[in-house]
Amino acid sequence: MDYRQLEKRISAAVEKERGRLLELCERLINIESVTGNERAVQDEVKNIFQEIGLETDYWIPDDEELKNYSLYSDTGESFLNRPVVAGILRGKCPSKGKSLLINGHVDVVTAEPLDMWDTDPFQAVIQDGKLIGRGASDMKTGLCVGIFCTGLLKKYFGGVNNDITIVSVPGEENGGNGTAASLMRGYTKADASIFPEPTSNQIQPAHRGAAFWRIHVDGRASHGGTKYKGVSAVEKGMKVAAALQELEDTRNREICSKNVFYKDYPLSAPVTVGIFRGGQFTSGVPEHCMLEGCIELVPGENVEDVAKSLEEAVRGACKDDLWLMEHPPRVEWFGLFYNPAQTEWDHPFVTLAKESFRAVTGDEPAVNGFEAGTDMRLLNRNFGVPGLMFGAGDIAMAHAPNEYVEIEELIKNAKVMALMMARWCGVE
Ligand SMILES: [Zn+2]
Repeated sequence: MDYRQLEKRISAAVEKERGRLLELCERLINIESVTGNERAVQDEVKNIFQEIGLETDYWIPDDEELKNYSLYSDTGESFLNRPVVAGILRGKCPSKGKSLLINGHVDVVTAEPLDMWDTDPFQAVIQDGKLIGRGASDMKTGLCVGIFCTGLLKKYFGGVNNDITIVSVPGEENGGNGTAASLMRGYTKADASIFPEPTSNQIQPAHRGAAFWRIHVDGRASHGGTKYKGVSAVEKGMKVAAALQELEDTRNREICSKNVFYKDYPLSAPVTVGIFRGGQFTSGVPEHCMLEGCIELVPGENVEDVAKSLEEAVRGACKDDLWLMEHPPRVEWFGLFYNPAQTEWDHPFVTLAKESFRAVTGDEPAVNGFEAGTDMRLLNRNFGVPGLMFGAGDIAMAHAPNEYVEIEELIKNAKVMALMMARWCGVE
């Protein structure tokens, strides 16, 4: 079908059905689903899959089996009562199209502090052109766009030539074991994938990796009046923090700003001290200090190597400091520890995304890297499935109070997405 004509038909269909898209988003936002508590929302996703007429696979991962799976990340969490749901639209003539996998997470972060919200976070509200509620940006709306577009292609085009598989997962905010469970189940094959995380409608074929560290610094307690008898752990901790700042500078100058997807950001890969805690008394020399934070990495880097470079930087802070040389700070790694991922800049699926964006909007799309991590790495690095993040809503909104998405931005996203899906999977 002629490209122009296809775009017109799809945009018209999205406009006609826009009420349906908003209804789907509201249905999911209205169900509280903070990580660990995804049962009710997944039941609703299953209902929606069935309403659309998708083949549905609904299962609860077995904890023991999952813990022994190579892609499980050791969070200690249980998946009891936390189903994964897949909806499949089978292709009518696979040789005439390519297959697509859409992965979206239904879990959201806590809505605390509740008093910062102007509305009930688990009751979708439409106001001034915005859809407001927890998950409006990250990423119930993104998942709903994927489901909506699949239903749209089925209703208006009688389906697609090759398979569309939508995998709705729990547990993303906790590190991605819901997606790992879907891979263990066998959802590992597709010609391309979309993770509709909030990208403000930018096309983002890359995401960062990240690792959480904690550093303990020892000093020697003393009364502040005789400070010279003690050693301030806070002052030593400041040296460590300065070394981390220097590591960030060096990494960004020499490595991270060279990545094509991250070169245009003011900071390509941050090293953030999130917590700096030390001391007990106003007039005392602190004996212990603790720094906790996150080091991020760009595609092409490896999380183990980057972790080593941070440990080296901490050792470097000890040079020329007798106390620190004799009492070296201890570095621990905890929580998130995962690799970045990327699809090649000129991969056909990326090109198709750009063309679709241009066709729908008449504008040149922004192509860059997602400024956080996503589950894409699990599918991309382990099974070689190319993919990209593309969704409405701002990543800065993602975990914030009064989370919202602009409705027109959401509609635009759906038009581009449906066109991408139609062209990739093939329609008649
Ligand atoms: Zn997300």
